Amino acid sequence: MPSKTKVETIRMLPFGMLNAFLLIRGENVILVDTGLPNSAPLVKKALQKNGLDWSNIRMIILTHAHIDHAGSALQLQELTGAPLVGHEADLPLFLGAPPVLRPTSLFGRLFRKTGAIQRPFAYFSPDIVCSTEMPDLTEVGIPARILHTPGHTPGSISVLIKDGRVIAGDLAASGILLGGIMIKEKPMQPPFEESPLLVAEALKNLLAHDSTQFYLGHGGPLGVEPIRKHIARLEASKF
Ligand SMILES: [Zn+2]
Ligand SMILES: [Zn+2]
Repeated sequence: MPSKTKVETIRMLPFGMLNAFLLIRGENVILVDTGLPNSAPLVKKALQKNGLDWSNIRMIILTHAHIDHAGSALQLQELTGAPLVGHEADLPLFLGAPPVLRPTSLFGRLFRKTGAIQRPFAYFSPDIVCSTEMPDLTEVGIPARILHTPGHTPGSISVLIKDGRVIAGDLAASGILLGGIMIKEKPMQPPFEESPLLVAEALKNLLAHDSTQFYLGHGGPLGVEPIRKHIARLEASKF
């Protein structure tokens, strides 16, 4: 058994503008997020790079139900046979309800106008619904746990690896535009956020669980200090 879990970042868009992740330990793989619709070839490439294939994926976890994270979930479930995991508070979104899009910036307002994030995708009912009960990830060979970290959406979840690395979805972002073109180490809000104060709480909860490195859907990864600053900024602003 290898001693360390590898986090393989799958660049769904260039420059870290949109990321998904493979958590790899030996033959066992958890896919966290699935990118926009039709992203399966990018996942396949990342598996092949590590000498793995579809059959190695034991579980597919969706950090939340936005199209840029859940857009290829159904396609990937069909290819892998792995169960889809999402939180019950995002269930309406997984099933096709329109997301609440509270822009955090001018960019978010303009982006909302394009309609890109409200586009329909292949909706689904998760095979495993997280609530107060969370699936045991050690059973699929990865020493990690799921934490409910609401705020970006009500059902946002994070995957915390035992060594402190955490896949935190859209709890924060970094870089200009949608992620990583510049100023990568400076945290910012994603273009949309339902409740910035809940996001601050969720980030504090992750720090309280000894999270040390934050892998993000857009930009990142970020260390503890930038996240602390981001929490302070979220708490100081009037939302
Ligand atoms: Zn999102
Ligand atoms: Zn996103």
